[in-house]
Amino acid sequence: MFELLTEKLSRAFKELRGRGRLNEKNIQEALKQIRLAFLEADVNYKVVKNFLEEIRQRSLGKEVMESLTPGQQVIKIVQEELTKLMGEGKRDLNLNDKKPLSLMLVGLQGSGKTTTAGKLANYIRKNGYHPYLVPVDTQRPAAIEQLCKIGEEINIPVYPADSNDRVEDICLKAKKEAPKVGCDILVIDTAGRLHIDEQLMEELLRIKGVIHPAESLLVADAMTGQDAVNLAVKFNQVLDITGVILSKMEGDARGGAALSVMAVTNKPIKFVGIGESMDALEPFYPDRMSSRILGMGDVLSLIDKAQAEFDQKEAMKLARKIKKAEFDLEDFKQQLAYIQKMGSLEQILGMMPGIGKMMKAGRLKTDEKELVRVEAIINSMTPEERRNHRIISGSRRKRIAMGSGTKVEDVNRLLKNFVQTKNMLKKLSRGGLKGLSSMAGFN
Ligand code: GDP
Repeated sequence: MFELLTEKLSRAFKELRGRGRLNEKNIQEALKQIRLAFLEADVNYKVVKNFLEEIRQRSLGKEVMESLTPGQQVIKIVQEELTKLMGEGKRDLNLNDKKPLSLMLVGLQGSGKTTTAGKLANYIRKNGYHPYLVPVDTQRPAAIEQLCKIGEEINIPVYPADSNDRVEDICLKAKKEAPKVGCDILVIDTAGRLHIDEQLMEELLRIKGVIHPAESLLVADAMTGQDAVNLAVKFNQVLDITGVILSKMEGDARGGAALSVMAVTNKPIKFVGIGESMDALEPFYPDRMSSRILGMGDVLSLIDKAQAEFDQKEAMKLARKIKKAEFDLEDFKQQLAYIQKMGSLEQILGMMPGIGKMMKAGRLKTDEKELVRVEAIINSMTPEERRNHRIISGSRRKRIAMGSGTKVEDVNRLLKNFVQTKNMLKKLSRGGLKGLSSMAGFN
């Protein structure tokens, strides 16, 4: 996501970073480039205008002009303003109301609403709650069926809605039923239409009126850019939504919707959908997102993701090994297995500073098959060789290639990658965040 914007911004910043002193003229020049980058990213033009004015004023202020590294200061300001634009901190779901409480999902057909209902239920279950999926699209029996299937897949109960019932009654009955089946949070998948119409809005209002949801969340397709923003405006006018979930964010290379929703509607993005699977839903962190946009990577999300999959003890053990530079090929193999568990390699690497850009330039190809090959190569080594890669001679490399059904070049490449990874990890563990930012080219 955001690849184009990141690329354009990094070009504008390159100019700034190299300069010892800034004056009004070169700041204007950089702002012009930043403006273009945001407009091309399909950000609402009024939003861009206000955003740039803020940056301009601050850039001409003392904090930049008197700084020894004015370029860096401007970049810092852009990051802060971007974060502000997207709503500052992460917005948690309101799950404090009396139980059972309801989360109501609204949106157009095809936006990913039903899938998101499943993902959201899955997410809140991981936080210790007991969700209950409630299908209320009585017009489309297929929608009810779809939610039942999702419920089955993730093993979360679905209220057996009767499509002859009125939608309000379905919700009220489900609320009554919830405690009986051990559930405390209703995730209500409302009807979707191809377009907004009065009938739909009226139905949603009726549901809202009887169920008093703790959250009414609009699910909007990020790929539709400003249409998603306009949709948010309309739903908000009628329903006074509490937030937005942007689906299909992983495919949205421009980022216009994510950058405009909060500024235009004053309603926060609470989650983003990043794939079709039931765990492809992440809380939205404006600060991390702006770092990612500015090409500084999204290391914190990556760490969160890793933490969800990692065994804490294993992670500590690994951290100690990295610190002592004892990280060996066996650990490397284990890490690859974790990566496979964590999701698509592309997605994970994209979050790492500097690497997103490298991937784009084609310098780093992510090939899931490659992982299988790597595992086969490491399996063909002796335990001694896995502990100490330096003892692997030319003839052993040939044997290992034969044993694993690969070529000597594959073995060589693997060893080279391993050494690079080891060095990178060493740098990370020594420098902490400073190490990271230097890798991202920010020092
Ligand atoms: P609904 O009509 O709004 O209920 O939409 P669905 O839940 O049926 O989703 C429509 C399509 O979008 C399905 O093929 C989903 O798998 C897909 N989808 C939903 N969320 C995401 C997402 O975050 N990323 C991607 N790539 N696809 C998604």
